Amino acid sequence: MLKLRDFLHLPQLDHLINQLVQDDGGLVVLAGIEARVVAPEENEAIMPSGLSAIFNILMQEILLAHPLSQAVVSAEERSLAKVPRQISRRVRLLKVEGPGMYAQQIEIAARQRPGLLVIERLNEESAAAAFRAAQSGVRVLVQLDSVLRGPAVVHQILELGVPREHLPALHWILTNQRMAVLCGHCKRPVAQGDDQIEQLRRRYPHLGTAIDTLLAGTVETLKTGQATKKGAGPHANMRFYRAGSCEHCHGTGYQGDMAIFDIFRNDPAEKSFFSQKSLLSLEEYALYLAAEGDLDLDDLLDLENHHLRRTYQMLTTSERRLTETNLALSRKLVELEASNRVLLQRTEVLMSLQDLGQALITSTDLSELAARICRRAGELCGADRVALYFKRTEEGDSGMAEILALRGWDSSFVGQRLDVRQVYDLNEKPRITRCMQTPP
Ligand SMILES: [Zn+2]
Repeated sequence: MLKLRDFLHLPQLDHLINQLVQDDGGLVVLAGIEARVVAPEENEAIMPSGLSAIFNILMQEILLAHPLSQAVVSAEERSLAKVPRQISRRVRLLKVEGPGMYAQQIEIAARQRPGLLVIERLNEESAAAAFRAAQSGVRVLVQLDSVLRGPAVVHQILELGVPREHLPALHWILTNQRMAVLCGHCKRPVAQGDDQIEQLRRRYPHLGTAIDTLLAGTVETLKTGQATKKGAGPHANMRFYRAGSCEHCHGTGYQGDMAIFDIFRNDPAEKSFFSQKSLLSLEEYALYLAAEGDLDLDDLLDLENHHLRRTYQMLTTSERRLTETNLALSRKLVELEASNRVLLQRTEVLMSLQDLGQALITSTDLSELAARICRRAGELCGADRVALYFKRTEEGDSGMAEILALRGWDSSFVGQRLDVRQVYDLNEKPRITRCMQTPP
């Protein structure tokens, strides 16, 4: 089974996630941006964030922490309720069928008092019902599409129509974002003389303690999470890097990306969300990863812009994909319409031929049959004028022809006889004469 730990790169997160999954109840929000790539291509710069995967694992970990709990999953997609066999009997999917059904489904699910209510997406439809369920004592886990992090996410939740008095039901906000990882082949260490530490302190004053810990400890200490001190003195193993350029990363300086997290827990003793800080902020998380050489120091110093750039890139990529998909669909539609027209035409031809065949078998009236042939021929060719000539074989090749039927011309000409050569070329390959003026 894939564990949340597989996504986490730092031990600092472990005990916080443990607290989160073992919490008694309330609402847990996983905030982040789910990839909007319509049809991912190879070499795509932006890969899916894996938000749903993290969400699914979070659900599993909560269930494992509460062995007697059953989960009800309210989702449009079946895939969200997929769990390993060992807990699959404890998970039930309540499929959301169509728009307008979300809130109702959540109410139904909440009335069953499940140990865990999993809601695929927090939006205008589901938000109020999700908070009511949490308020009534049900443990709720939801995903929220958001570019915000930590307590700022609450602004977005309020905009979804959740009443302020229901906000205390919100216990945890786990934010997941992604950052580009430095190419291991060409990353360049930042010179020791660089005023990197001072820059970091100025940029993120609240990271002072974390920076001090880093200075006192070593990178190994961070990775194992053990308090043993290796190496000696400040700056011993802490080294920041900047992006380089090489053939391995196609000159970009980056290879792939990694998840970074922000963990916020609402303290019920506090009056407001917005005066509270995250237990582990995104900046702090990124600081540890930068100190391990995974992230670019400049990206860390400019985290907001890095995030904005990536979000913008992802949105434009998906917008371009949507446009391309729409264009391809329009082209297909035009092709289909053309095929449909041809098909209709062929059907008409077939029906006309069938009609004529039937008439040939059953009709005893030559002029009625001739009029019908004229009409059908006119319909098939889209012609408003048709003349049907008739040549009797017994009259020989040099014989006469007769106007048998007309459409669009004076019917008094019907029955008139004319030289067959005027309408029928009797050369080696006999064919109908083409006339550019009024036919004879
Ligand atoms: Zn490189």
